[in-house]
Amino acid sequence: MKPVRAVVALGSNLEGPEARVRRAFDEVGALPGTRLLARSSLYRTAPVGFVDQPPFINACALVETTLAPRDLLEGLLAIERRHGRVRDIPNGPRTLDLDIVLYGDLAMHEHGLTLPHPRAHERAFVLAPLLEVWPDAVIPGRGAAAAFREAVRGQAIERVAEAA
Ligand code: AMP
Repeated sequence: MKPVRAVVALGSNLEGPEARVRRAFDEVGALPGTRLLARSSLYRTAPVGFVDQPPFINACALVETTLAPRDLLEGLLAIERRHGRVRDIPNGPRTLDLDIVLYGDLAMHEHGLTLPHPRAHERAFVLAPLLEVWPDAVIPGRGAAAAFREAVRGQAIERVAEAA
């Protein structure tokens, strides 16, 4: 299969989030058939929804992968599990959250997998790191990712570190 460019969003707010997200970049890049092309800076953001929890560290990875979307998702869920992710409170604290934001120009909606990620364009903590790793990214069905940056300007996010 021809490699596809995909963007994975990383988030953590428990147990050493910065080091954890840095490590997760390497783990995403080590998935079979997958190569890490770029890692964004790390951003600190206020929690959305359930607000009584520590701030999140968010970032995006640009990868090239021959994994089919489902297999990429399975790989990401396995990495989450290795980080001790337990799904309990929706939008609650988590050791590691990995989402597929974009998978080439694919738009699909199946049980357990929606592409592009349905909320990516309305969240500054996804758009800012996404535009860093892929300034020309197009969100299938919505258009240039850069066009949504202005609409999320009011959401507080702080760039804390280069990922390196
Ligand atoms: P959460 O970790 O709370 O963001 O929810 C993850 C669940 O959302 C996964 O188990 C997936 O089945 C589902 N899901 C749907 N679309 C996506 C996507 N684009 N990336 C990651 N997970 C997705």
